[in-house]
Order: sequence, then C-alpha cells, then structure tokens
Amino acid sequence: MKYEPRKIDPIPEQNLIRGKKEMAYEPRKIEKKWQKIWEEKGIFRAEDFSKKPKFYILDMFPYPSAEGIHVGHPRGYIATDIFVHLMRRKGFNVLHPMGWDAFGLPAENYAIKTGIHPEISTKKNIKRIKEQMKMIGLGYDWSREINTTDPEYYKITQEIFLLLYKMGLAYEAVLPINFCPSCKTGLANEEVIDGKCERCGTEVTKKNLRQWVLKITAYADKLLKDLDLIDWPEKIKEMQRNWIGRSEGWTIKFQIPNSKFQIEVFTTRIDTLFGCTYLVVAPEHEIISNLKSQISNLKQVQDYIEESKKKLERERISEVKEKTGIELKGIKAINPINGREIPIFVADYVLPHYGTGAVMAVPCHDQRDFDFARKFNLPMIEVIKPYEEKKELPKEAPLIISDGRYQRAYEGEGFLINSGRFTGMKSEEAREAIGQFLAKKNLAKKAVYYKLRDWIFSRQRYWGEPIPIVHCQKCGIVPLDEKDLPLKLPKVEKYQPTGTGESPLAAISDWVNTKCPKCGGPAKRETNTMPQWAGSCWYFIAYLLHQNKKYFWQKEKIDYWLPVDLYVGGAEHAVLHLLYARFWTKVLYDAGWIKFKEPFLKLRNQGLILAPDGQKMSKSRGNVINPDPLIEKYGADAFRLYEMFMGPFEEVISWDPKGIVGTKRFLDKVWNLFGKEKSVISEKEDREIEKLIHKTIKKVTEDIENFRFNTAVSALMILVNELQNKNYGIWHLKTLLLLLAPFAPHICEELWQIHFVKSLKSKVYSSIHFQPWPKYDPKLIKEEMITLVIQVNGKVRDKIEVEADISEEKAKELALSREKIKKWIEGKKIKKIIFVPGKLINIVV
Ligand SMILES: [Zn+2]
Ligand SMILES: [Zn+2]
Repeated sequence: MKYEPRKIDPIPEQNLIRGKKEMAYEPRKIEKKWQKIWEEKGIFRAEDFSKKPKFYILDMFPYPSAEGIHVGHPRGYIATDIFVHLMRRKGFNVLHPMGWDAFGLPAENYAIKTGIHPEISTKKNIKRIKEQMKMIGLGYDWSREINTTDPEYYKITQEIFLLLYKMGLAYEAVLPINFCPSCKTGLANEEVIDGKCERCGTEVTKKNLRQWVLKITAYADKLLKDLDLIDWPEKIKEMQRNWIGRSEGWTIKFQIPNSKFQIEVFTTRIDTLFGCTYLVVAPEHEIISNLKSQISNLKQVQDYIEESKKKLERERISEVKEKTGIELKGIKAINPINGREIPIFVADYVLPHYGTGAVMAVPCHDQRDFDFARKFNLPMIEVIKPYEEKKELPKEAPLIISDGRYQRAYEGEGFLINSGRFTGMKSEEAREAIGQFLAKKNLAKKAVYYKLRDWIFSRQRYWGEPIPIVHCQKCGIVPLDEKDLPLKLPKVEKYQPTGTGESPLAAISDWVNTKCPKCGGPAKRETNTMPQWAGSCWYFIAYLLHQNKKYFWQKEKIDYWLPVDLYVGGAEHAVLHLLYARFWTKVLYDAGWIKFKEPFLKLRNQGLILAPDGQKMSKSRGNVINPDPLIEKYGADAFRLYEMFMGPFEEVISWDPKGIVGTKRFLDKVWNLFGKEKSVISEKEDREIEKLIHKTIKKVTEDIENFRFNTAVSALMILVNELQNKNYGIWHLKTLLLLLAPFAPHICEELWQIHFVKSLKSKVYSSIHFQPWPKYDPKLIKEEMITLVIQVNGKVRDKIEVEADISEEKAKELALSREKIKKWIEGKKIKKIIFVPGKLINIVV
C-alpha cells in the first residue's frame, strides 16, 4: 500500500527545538509539549470517507468512576493505541474513539449519599479520567467523544427501544425477578453472580414486579450460529454458547389416567425412556391446580409448595443440598413407551421455566434422579449398558434393580437393555427410533430448548434512560411519538429508590401525569428506567453520529466505518454487554437500520493487573496504584512500556513497582545512543547491524499484530543493547525510532524532530507518527546456513546443512533421525552427545 503523507500546517518555529539538544532526558517536559502540539494539530483524528482502507478499533468505554483510573485500567488502552499507530503508518484510515458509559448505580448511590446530582459528579469524574488518559499519551479522536447520559444520546437509545417495542421484542410482564434489597432494584440474571448482586454483593431475593422485558430469546439461534462468523477468544464464545444453552431433544406426553390432562416433559435422552419410573413436576406446575380434587394429600402438597416459595432459585437447584419432594397421591402418569403407571412427585429442584417445568426421572441414568429415588425408595430400571462393557449383550436383564448394587447412576451412552423392541440399539439410534415410534402415536415431538431467558430490562432507579411509554386508562400501553424524544429525566429532590417497586420518578407527579399521545386523555408515564447496559448496546455506532453536540442517524458514515474491526476489553463482559450488544445489532440489522450482523469482528481480552500483593486492586483493600505520580516521575513513555512489557497481554499479572524503573532506564539508553553514532563504519559492521534491525522490524511488526506486546518490547531492548556495544550510524537509529514510536510516542517524536526533520530541510511539521512503517528485507533476515558434521564415536559419518544458530536440542534430534547415523547406533546405548555449536555433533555409544 502506498503511503500518502498528511499535509499539516507548519508549526511555529518556537515550538520546535530542532538542533537544540537536551542534555538529559526529562520525560515530562517533552511529553507535555508534544501532547499539546498533537492535540492542536489534531493528528489522531480519523477522516470520514477517506480513500484509504478503514480500520475501526475500539476500547470498551469506561464507567467514569470517582476514583479515576488505576494502573490496571490502561493496559488495554495502551495496547490499542500501539495497534493504531501501526495501522495508521501502514496506510490505514484509523478510527479510535473514546466515550463514557455514565448511567448506573455508583453515580446514583453517590447522589443519595451527598445530594449532588449524578450529572454533576459524572462530569467531574469524566474530566479527571480524560486528563489521565491524555497524560498517558493515548491518541484518541476526542472530536467524537460520546456520553450515554447526554439527552441527545439517549434520544437514540429511546428510539431503539421504540423499535424493539414495535417489533414485538419489548413487552410488559409481572415476573418474579431477582431483587437486590440493598440497591432496591430488580436485576437481570446476568447481574447476579453466585446469588449476589453484581454491584454491591448483597444476597439477592425474589420479588414479583411489573417489568419491561426484551425478547432476546427470539434471537437465541442467531446469537448462537453467528458466533462462527467472528474472531473472538474461544473461551468467550463458549461462555455465550453455554449461556444460550441450546439443547435438542423430544417433548413426550405422559397421560394422566381418568383425566383429560397430560404432563409434557422435555428430554435429551429419550433413549432412556424405558428406565423412567416416576415424574417430577415443579411446585408451580399447573397440573397441581388442575387435578386438585384428585390429589388425596393436597394439604401436605400445599404446605410443601408454600415452603419452597421461600427459597431462592439457587438454593433449589444447589448440588450440595439434599433434594426434597412429595408425591402427588391419588394421581399417576402413564409411561407412553411401555404403558406402565408411574407416580408423580412435586419437587422444587425442578424449575418452572426450564424445559416444560416437568421432568421424567430415570434413576439408573441420572445422578439427581438416582439420589431422589434412593431417598424415596423408588424402583430403578437399568436400560443402558456402557459400550465398553459389552462382551455379550444380556438378552433381558432382571427388571427391577433397587438392591443397592449401584452407588452411582451411569449417565453415558451405550447399548439399550430392558427396552423391549429397542433392546440392543445404540443410544444414538434409539433416540431417533423411540422418538419416531411415539411421534407416530402423537405422543412425542422433536423440540429445542434454550437456557437463555428474556432480558429483564427495567430498573426501579433514577439514573437511567426513561422508558418512552405512557399508560393510558383507555388505550393501555402507548409508545411516545419519536418527535417527542428525548424524554428527559426530570430533576428530583430525592434519589432514594422507594423499595416499593417504583422508581423515584413516580414521586414527581407533574412529570408522571401526562396526556395520552393517542387519545389525549389522562395517562401516566412509565416510571421504570432502562438498565445501565442499554447505552452500551449501540455506542459503537454513536461515535459516528455525534456532530456539533447532536446525534443524527448518518447511514453513509455507518456503512463506511462499521463493523468494528478490533475490539479490546475485559473478559468479564462475556455474557452481559457482549451478548446484549450482539442482540441489538441483530435487531437493527433486521429493521434495516444497519448493514452488518455482528458488531465486533475481532475481540481480544486483556488480563487483569493485580496489586503487588497479588490481590485485586480495590479502594477497600487500600492497594490501588494511581498512575499519575509514576508518570510524573518516570514519564508516560516508561509507563506505557512497562504496561506492555510486564507479561503476555491476556494474562493476569501483578504490578511490580520496580518495573517502571527498568523501562525508564531503557529509554535513557535510547536517548544516550544519539550523539555517539559514527559517521563512517565498516561494511561488515553495517551489515551485521542491518541484519539485526531487519529481524527486529519483522519481530515487532508481527508481535504487535498478534498482541504479543511484551516480546516486541524485549526485541527492541535487545536491539538497543547491541547498538550500545557496536559502531553504528545515525541511519540505524532512525529505524529504531520508527519502531519504538508506537510504544514510546513522546521521546521518539522528540528525537525524530531533533535529528531527522532538520536534515530533511523541511519547514513542514512532519510527525514521526506519520512516517511509513518500516519494511524488512527478507534476504537480510534469512538465517545463514552451515554444514554440521555428525560423528559417531569421533568418526565422521554424515554431514547436514542447518541454520547457523541451530539449538543443541534440534541438532540432536536431527542427527539421531538420519538414516546413515541410525545404522551406527542401532541397538546401542547412547552414552553421551557432544555438541559444538556451528561445527559438529558427536554421538558416543
Ligand atoms: Zn445491590
Ligand atoms: Zn389513550
């Protein structure tokens, strides 16, 4: 690709310190100067509709917390910044924007404590973090900065909500939801971590609340299938697959004798149906109320159901707690495959919303059923023999096996036994055969079930996007007209959630009471607000729409820039933001608003940086490391280098306070290389250094491209150490700067301006960050070959051509594999192997 230098107005001479050499390297002096010049010149701005190929690189935008950023936060930002430098200099038109995900609980909790409006505290926090980012020298295109709490921004969030509503993907429901008693708000399943509130750690309870719910389940299949289209870490894809939890199987009807009712179960193991000896239904199952009059122990059953209502879902399905249950006496079900009457139990480990809310129990082949059957002394029938045990297939094994022979259920596949006409089949064949057999009698149907549930999309809080809906006494739910957006958050006196299931907005009667847009009659506004995930579901589009403090839907820009080519952020968002954003993207695609199906083509996750004590950094532990004093002392360049050098990008790693001292020393060395260059050096010396330089170009380029920043830095360190001990020319240092510039942009710009711009006799400000990325000469990096002599007991037996720097390990392996050598050592014990690098290898037998 041809590189076209960008024309930039000359900067005033006084801003350049060409020719004047600083005696010592004083990073902060240099860094502040260049940061100011870069910003004034707008050198990191992206150009819409440029003819160059586009590259959109995105960081997960932060929540502007009051603490500012600690040393763990910029790891991803520095990495993307380096990547941007590389791509821009390779000739791409690069977009790298930054913004603020500013709705959410911390700002609101702060407002409750202090009475300061979240808007004010948020503004203050943003200002501080932005300063920190600039201090690190991150080259964002700040002209596109966004903020999800800007009414102009959430106008579009609200428009998308109305789109979801009109597409039938947003609906109202009264649901028992996860409720945080401390935050006094409902939570999505994704926000409950080990039964606790993701935000505050309080144990989550259940509460019936009127909710807005998004039908993400309608996109379950697309969300699953399109994972194949994107280059994401396999670990994240697997987490999404498990979260969506698709399983294929059959629904089977079990008739209740002497009634018109039946119980439907879903199973992935219809091959074990002959082993089903009872059914279990959830306490919420309708069969209990439908057949109330026939249940002889109704009182006990109702007591049991009352008791289970007090339990959390997590307790109900807990592996450690003993399973409880009670038989529904007076009614039975018919196993459709063998006509046998079997008992029905109600047990709270069965959840109403998983599958059909009823399960067929096969004690011999499901551990949970096994434990339950043991406890209630229920019959067990073995119907699957593991394949490996098959010496002779038993014709018909003894039928009821409840004699304590087994300690565990066998859950694997195998040959069917005790299964009538299906005996002898493999599990896989039997699933189809038994399924089809019952399907013909209309007793079974192929089915697919998902673990994924619809997304609870409302919060009973103040600091979120108002939901643009009114409730009219006559018309019911009425969406606002788009021209009436944004529906702005009103000012309130108190931010406290009421805890009654209503948000603080409910208390502002002149906001709540309104006119119905449809009939003009009296109506009330929706008082729930959107969850903090709403704004981040589409923010990657918002950067393209922001212009003069307004947001417009600009199709051409969207088509030019999107989808995002590279997305970098923490892995903790695997099933939250990363799933929600994919969902909204698919909805916008189906609505024709955008032309891409997946928002983020490539995703990389940075590892967490821990405190030096190996703990997660947190305010409460008092181990948070603030980058500001480190940058003041050692400079942003040394800070950036250490962040990248400390270890592999994806790995969790502890901060080492000494690390930055080392990278600062490295930059001192770079600085001191200048002025010691020779004007004439021998061809041999030149060639040697050129070879190392071209190897370094290759290594640094490929390492950045593959997110191996730590080894890229170490390659640069090796180069600098070599130069220190050799005679080198200024032209060698030029390439060094060109390679180091993405990592340490300030010192490289300074040295570039002093030593190279002047020599170009150019009056034009020619930033190092616009110089074409260096290319390596493949001929120069080709390893030299040598002839390696192979001896056996000191006698030459073979010779091979190998790379000059072949390792001992590799030389041994190669020598021992040679046919000519094999015949000399066959059957003999190798006593030792002597390796003389670059010359010979001697095998002593
Ligand atoms: Zn909470
Ligand atoms: Zn109305």
